[in-house]
Amino acid sequence: MKDIKTLKKLIPADVLNKRIKELADEINKTYSTDEPLNLICVLRGAVMFFCELSKHLKMPVNMEFISLSSYGNSTNSSGKINRANIILPDFNNQNVLIVEDIIDTGLTLDFLIKYINQNCAAKSTKLAVLFDKKCARKYDVKPNFCAFEVDNKFIVGFGLDYMGYYRNLDYIGYFEDFSE
Ligand code: 5GP
Repeated sequence: MKDIKTLKKLIPADVLNKRIKELADEINKTYSTDEPLNLICVLRGAVMFFCELSKHLKMPVNMEFISLSSYGNSTNSSGKINRANIILPDFNNQNVLIVEDIIDTGLTLDFLIKYINQNCAAKSTKLAVLFDKKCARKYDVKPNFCAFEVDNKFIVGFGLDYMGYYRNLDYIGYFEDFSE
């Protein structure tokens, strides 16, 4: 674990919450308010973003939770999906929105989008992310809704962890010695 006193603040809580509300407004404009939307929360990193975003959505929302990881306890992608715990229903030709904390190489979301398209009978599968680390991309995955772009820093807070810690912070921070 690292000393929280060395954590630098990158995005304060009020900026995060304001931008998530704007993203929810974009999502409300994209989908019909009469049609159900199936939100998939990718645990555990997306949990705070998922809760905050879903509060502002106007259509009937079904919530699903799955667990996927490509990082483990490291600050770099392992290049493979380490833990996959996916139990999803058949979506019966309804819209699906995956909610993820951050796209880095794109491995996790490339895997998940293909999985849903092959197994879950979704009408459409779109992707909302809190952060896009575009500079690290190795797979051809683009978010439909993105709150912030971030450069090659290892960030923590608002659901994002380092070795399981710091998810509870209401802001985004980074440790300088993890930067490239
Ligand atoms: P990818 O599969 O796109 O390479 O990696 C996505 C996953 O890596 C994210 O869901 C997240 O768990 C982790 N990740 C990528 N970048 C960061 C980061 O800067 N901070 C934290 N805490 N996790 C990250």
